[in-house]
Amino acid sequence: MSSSQLFTTISDRIATIRQQLPETVRLIAVSKQVSVEAMREAYAAGIRDFGESRVQEAAAKQSQLQDLPDISWHLIGHLQTNKAKKALEHFQWIHSLDSLKLAQALDRLATSLSTNPQVLLQVKLLPDPNKYGWTEEELFQDLPALNQCQNIQIKGLMTIAPQNLTEGEILSLFQNTRSLAAKIQQQNWSHIQMQHLSMGMSEDYDLAVQAGATMVRLGRTLFGERS
Ligand SMILES: *Cc1c(COP(=O)(O)O)cnc(C)c1O
Repeated sequence: MSSSQLFTTISDRIATIRQQLPETVRLIAVSKQVSVEAMREAYAAGIRDFGESRVQEAAAKQSQLQDLPDISWHLIGHLQTNKAKKALEHFQWIHSLDSLKLAQALDRLATSLSTNPQVLLQVKLLPDPNKYGWTEEELFQDLPALNQCQNIQIKGLMTIAPQNLTEGEILSLFQNTRSLAAKIQQQNWSHIQMQHLSMGMSEDYDLAVQAGATMVRLGRTLFGERS
């Protein structure tokens, strides 16, 4: 935890960040490895969107936070097909949709569960061995098949900047992601919308906002370092 965080509370940090963000940007509080007590504090400070990387962890927290209404749960971590059903039962948003195979699995399950989850396509415009996602070329190949997945609501793109880039490189990456969304939108797919860009984490959210992010995913800067 940085020294500036030692003497501030979660609600102070949320208020500070909220002031820095344009009103239209949705603040997703990334609560992986964060206690439900800290999440209650965030809720009291106005947070209604929580991001979790693991389905199991989110499910456990949801059962402890049942008394809090109006929360939207966002899955931001890689999802294996065998957990897709559970993911649909526990999340309203899936930011980490990263393959056609997973999209088709979610689409089939969404029909049987009578749900229409909101999803973002995770893209990787720079090579990153640690990250999942489509390259631009792969995504254009898969768009016709994704457009057939009519039970999931494809709402935009998500990206994660690789480690060790300069600020200039991160900004270009986010701008290129925004341009890609615009290109896709121009193709006028019937079941693919590009209204949202989920990009920006604690270290780079200011650059993401500059580049047009509509959702930022913040963990450490709200809750402190994870152990
Ligand atoms: C952990 C995580 C975040 C939050 O990262 P911080 O650096 O704690 O803000 C955002 N997005 C994804 C995909 C993550 O896995």
